[in-house]
Amino acid sequence: MSSAGQHSATDAVDPRRHVPRTDAVLAEPRVAAATARLGRELVRAAVGAVQERVRRGEVPAEHEAVVAAVLAALPAVPAALRPVLNATGVLLHTNLGRAPLSDAARAAVGLAAGTCDVELDLATGARGPRGATTVDALLAAVPGAAAAHVVNNGAAALALVAAALAGGREVVVSRGELVEIGDGFRIPELLAAAGARLHEVGTTNRTSRADYAAAIGQETALILKVHPSNFVVSGFTRSVGVRELAGLGVPVVADIGSGLLAPHRLLPDEPDAAGTLAEGADVVTASGDKLLGGPQAGLLLGAPGTGAELVHAMRRHPLARALRVDKLTLAALEATLRGPVPPVRAALDADPRTLRARAERLAAALAEHGVDAAAVGSDAAVGGGGAPGVTLPSAAVSLPRHYAAALRAGDPAVLGRIERGRCLLDLRALGPAADADLASAVLACTS
Ligand SMILES: *Cc1c(COP(=O)(O)O)cnc(C)c1O
Repeated sequence: MSSAGQHSATDAVDPRRHVPRTDAVLAEPRVAAATARLGRELVRAAVGAVQERVRRGEVPAEHEAVVAAVLAALPAVPAALRPVLNATGVLLHTNLGRAPLSDAARAAVGLAAGTCDVELDLATGARGPRGATTVDALLAAVPGAAAAHVVNNGAAALALVAAALAGGREVVVSRGELVEIGDGFRIPELLAAAGARLHEVGTTNRTSRADYAAAIGQETALILKVHPSNFVVSGFTRSVGVRELAGLGVPVVADIGSGLLAPHRLLPDEPDAAGTLAEGADVVTASGDKLLGGPQAGLLLGAPGTGAELVHAMRRHPLARALRVDKLTLAALEATLRGPVPPVRAALDADPRTLRARAERLAAALAEHGVDAAAVGSDAAVGGGGAPGVTLPSAAVSLPRHYAAALRAGDPAVLGRIERGRCLLDLRALGPAADADLASAVLACTS
């Protein structure tokens, strides 16, 4: 009895002991709605964390305050991914998921997320060809392609080339094109793992047509051209174009990497799918989430004749099933191809003067709130394994360095770039609609 009395005495001086009960907080309608959206475990964990903060005296021991703290701590979706505004000036930032999808592609993903006719002919009620409309969109977008197939990513496209077209046989490839794609993954090892034997020709800096010609024999399955998409070799160099290789009597597969479908004036050294097919490549492989601006995907495009037959052979290979893309990818890719200009393309085509005007407006608005902000010129880049060495003129808002960490911790997070001791928010990779969000994010760090 006396202990109960002691308790109430303590409670009277220490209201933190009145921690609202879990059941009561979970029963609150707004919290119950969050449970319906996010699942019980996540919300329960958030309630537990807030109760702990109440015990530490960080949150008032009142029902309403606890509910507010729980709601504030909950994520928008039950997944740990957080949205990040890409203010790095790197258009395709691999750590940020490369290309952001267009609104059209996002809407298509939402639609495909339910049950949909991905493999059904609604007119007859019979099974239909999976992803046929996406393939049609690809063929419409790439003049000169007679067949197309979509797999999980660029690496998967190469694996399928190796397994289906060169299993147990030789792939002739220049030593100047034995590329590491990133994160320790190397194209020659990928080809070997998929069952092809590599026949390397030439040297790091120089390979001639005669080198290829001498390597071709009974064992040759194909010649592979790999675009050096993340490095530049300069000086005493020589490489052989697809046009010269096309006459050597074996199929030529060209990995163009970036997924540019047609030439772009700012990227004169970046090969495009239509141009590479026109030069005589039988098959072109590329990524979907680089300069094409779509979802992660690997594209296989075949020229009329041999190329189309090779793509058909790859589509029927057992591994094709293992590399098959889901309906979300098919939907996003088709919407990217048929829909309005995707964000990556808009960023590439952005007028530097417009970027400068945006930076000035933003800096002025921030300065009005006492932020040490200035508009500055900036050099942006394609990044993500595309157009190495190409500088895209851009504009940025320059802030004191300490903003960098604070902005990363914000919601949405903002990732800038540190340059000469300042935190730069480069506008090239962001559409104008992001400016208001950038301003709020910076001001949130200031308050
Ligand atoms: C990016 C790239 C790849 C790998 O493509 P993923 O879609 O990342 O798998 C392969 N080859 C080249 C030339 C590339 O640029």
